[in-house]
Amino acid sequence: LRNIKDCWWKKFVHQRPEIYGIDGAIISNPKVWEASGHVANFADSMIDCCSCKARYRVDHLIEEQTGEKVEGASLDELEKAIAAKNIICPACGKKNFTAARKFNTLFRSELGSLEEGGTTVYLRGETAQNMFVDFRSVINSFSPKLPFGLAQIGKAFRNEVTLGNFIFRTFEFEQMEIEYFIHERDWEAVFEQWKTDMWEWLISLGINSDHLRWRRHSEQELSHYSKRTEDIEYDFPFGGFNELCGLAYRTNFDLANHSKFSGQDLSLSLDDGSKYLPHVVEPTFGVSRTLLMLLLDSYREDEVNGEIRSYLKLNPNLAPYQVAVFPLSSNKPKLVEKAQSVFKLLLGSFSVVWDGHGNVGKRYRRQDEIGTPFCVTVDYQTLEDSTVTVRDRDTMAQERVPVDALIPHFSSKLAL
Ligand code: ATP
Repeated sequence: LRNIKDCWWKKFVHQRPEIYGIDGAIISNPKVWEASGHVANFADSMIDCCSCKARYRVDHLIEEQTGEKVEGASLDELEKAIAAKNIICPACGKKNFTAARKFNTLFRSELGSLEEGGTTVYLRGETAQNMFVDFRSVINSFSPKLPFGLAQIGKAFRNEVTLGNFIFRTFEFEQMEIEYFIHERDWEAVFEQWKTDMWEWLISLGINSDHLRWRRHSEQELSHYSKRTEDIEYDFPFGGFNELCGLAYRTNFDLANHSKFSGQDLSLSLDDGSKYLPHVVEPTFGVSRTLLMLLLDSYREDEVNGEIRSYLKLNPNLAPYQVAVFPLSSNKPKLVEKAQSVFKLLLGSFSVVWDGHGNVGKRYRRQDEIGTPFCVTVDYQTLEDSTVTVRDRDTMAQERVPVDALIPHFSSKLAL
């Protein structure tokens, strides 16, 4: 998870001089969420089964049983679809539902030390709002010229009606978001460029492009702030293609509303002296959905000596560990001592793990399962000629490498 975030930050903040990273508040003044339109519009529709009391998001229930996208349809339309399409309760098989109703997904909390009279606050439903609320601070500090972006990685919270599919949908999750501020006239070109950049980043992680596709939102599905949204969907093993990340053209809806609600002028001064309220294109990624996709896409099985071996063919830079080090035998002090010195040698340059449990075969399997690309074994020959066995996760090939050459050897294989 951390490696995904570091990789994203390096690509979209460190390597992009016009994008500034920020770290905003999780709890904010409720007016922020009124200004953003989330208090009024950030709602899903839900329905209960009268027979077994199971609760569902109506659009998902219909989509799962018909394959038709209905997100954004009115309550009336959803109820009609439930009846017309013969939708059943997946839990009990009955067709006995309550009326559909709206449910705001902002996560509510209470601020204040008194038992009564606390103020209702919201945990942020998207990290995006910090980029609009903190916009003026960045402008005052850096005076950026259009186009420029503000980026953030952080927790978001949603009172989801239903959770599930492992970590696909949770109450608490992390987002990696950029608000990219532009002139209105440029929005289509900028949107297309971000489509390329987002896609290429996912491919650079090692994802098979056959498992990804773009899907454009229909008019009825568009969020209240968006003029165009397209999602990259991944072909998940549950329910097929589903949202991984999204790209939205939010116009200047957010800055205009925050200006109005706060009374602060959020416009930029352009070179010709005129004032301009920038428009914005927003690439947004879910961290946990990216992790889930990586685990699914990297999972491999092959056969070794008649047994199934499972391994994660993870991009070496995203693997939790890059190198595992172990002594051939953990009860031979000389081997352990030498292996410890190799471990310490590599520790400063790579993400390294020590494994002294079980036999070497079991250690290889354990490292394969968590995607460690290289294993180093210190054996009796090491004590004689200071070479070690380096074993490759994917090919299982082994080679002897002098201890002195280990750092350049791995550096050439791991793009650090
Ligand atoms: P969905 O339609 O699946 O509910 P969304 O369209 O509401 O998602 P966005 O508001 O576009 O999602 O949020 C941006 C990203 O945050 C999504 O692409 C997704 O990766 C992630 N995300 C949204 N909701 C959740 C959640 N409940 N759990 C995990 N990740 C989420």
